[in-house]
Amino acid sequence: MARTVLLTCPVCGAMRALVGDLDTHDRSALGDVVVDHLDAHRLGESARALRKHEAVSTAEERIVGDGELDALPTEEWLAALPTEARGPTQSR
Ligand SMILES: [Zn+2]
Repeated sequence: MARTVLLTCPVCGAMRALVGDLDTHDRSALGDVVVDHLDAHRLGESARALRKHEAVSTAEERIVGDGELDALPTEEWLAALPTEARGPTQSR
């Protein structure tokens, strides 16, 4: 079992999972991760600050199994796909 913090981009819905919990990743650390991604959206400075705050405030802690952890986007942001295009999360 592992604790993760799940961030969602308020602009495009992309997701990023960080191993750890909200004690390991404080708000400023989460903000840095979010800003890294938000830069790709080329927002104005105030819009970027607002979206950063939004993403940090909606960060969720999840406890996942070790196998599930591999399926989460821990290395980079995973672009949100239309639900129909996602397919099954686990192929057997
Ligand atoms: Zn985004």
